[in-house]
Amino acid sequence: MEQVYLENISKSFGKTVAVKDLTLKVMKGEFVAILGPSGCGKTTTLRIIAGLEKPDKGRVFIAGRDVTNLPPGKRRIAMVFQFYALYPTTVYENIALPLKRHMSKAEIKKRVKEVAEILEISHLLNVHVNKLTIFEKQKVALARAIAKEADVYLLDEPLTLLDPVSRIKMRHEFKRIQKEFTGTFIYVTHDQFEAMSLADRIAIMNAGVLQQEGTPEEVYFSPKNTFVATFVGEPGMNLVEATVLDCNDFLKLKLGDNIISLPIETRYKEYFSKVREVLIGFRPEHVIFGSNTGLPLKGRILFKEFLGYRSLIHIDLGSERSIIAVVNKLSQFMKLNKDDIVELSIRPDNILLFSKEGVRL
Ligand code: ATP
Repeated sequence: MEQVYLENISKSFGKTVAVKDLTLKVMKGEFVAILGPSGCGKTTTLRIIAGLEKPDKGRVFIAGRDVTNLPPGKRRIAMVFQFYALYPTTVYENIALPLKRHMSKAEIKKRVKEVAEILEISHLLNVHVNKLTIFEKQKVALARAIAKEADVYLLDEPLTLLDPVSRIKMRHEFKRIQKEFTGTFIYVTHDQFEAMSLADRIAIMNAGVLQQEGTPEEVYFSPKNTFVATFVGEPGMNLVEATVLDCNDFLKLKLGDNIISLPIETRYKEYFSKVREVLIGFRPEHVIFGSNTGLPLKGRILFKEFLGYRSLIHIDLGSERSIIAVVNKLSQFMKLNKDDIVELSIRPDNILLFSKEGVRL
């Protein structure tokens, strides 16, 4: 059963379209991340679910109830904001305060204890929040939200305030908490690593429009369009403009100064009998050095980026087309230098085709 259902939601602020015709289902117990660049409408979507923003069009359902016209307090939601504020008191009081309206003293005590155990902050319950590290404060903000019994837990970039090291630590912490706590979560982030590592499903937005929803594997390996292909992955997918030379049993393409013949399914034949330009997509890690395992390409090394356990190698394919390949720290190809000519190959099953307009074929 769907726990949250957004039905054709649209919201504009003056001339700015923040969310456009968004339909999204989140199932009970699911952890869904809304991922996208700054300004793509993530926070507005979350605020609409919370009831802090009213949609211009569309309806919001939570746990089967149409809550579109209900105020936040009547929606049975819990929310952690980007810039959360804690009450200037003890950790215990911070978690207990929001529960006081609905629970008895004994129930509150039990709930605070449970949640503190999940978040491993039991030893801090009597400590004043001013004495906590930012990492501990973040845990308290989270504990306060999940202590509430809610139909859905809404998290808006909850790790923003943390430094990079604490962010990763908190991400692992979240992963652990998720296993012990079976709530429905919607988690807004612009950080693909958070989305990929935490979510059961990711909804990717751009310019107010949902681009794709799917498991982390689906959006990574099978992007529906070039936005998703390049937004997901670090670096994103290589997209190379290619010219169709022929399409019979094979799709014969000019890729930079290279000509490759790609086996393709019959269904593409009609399309390529009319269309002469296509975007060839493949992940940097799918570029193989050496020419004996897939479609052969020749290129010239432009430059290398050393990233520790791996390096990114930028390669010119000629005719103003370049790609990025990843090599592992232990690979002999780490030794390649600028202007070296390299033979490469890509397995046909690692190649995705996109129209010039950016839609997956
Ligand atoms: P960020 O990660 O930067 O918060 P976001 O993806 O969450 O971005 P939103 O905050 O939802 O994006 O904003 C979507 C668009 O709507 C942006 O262009 C933003 O400037 C605009 N917007 C959001 N809230 C308001 C508002 N209250 N008044 C005017 N414009 C707004």
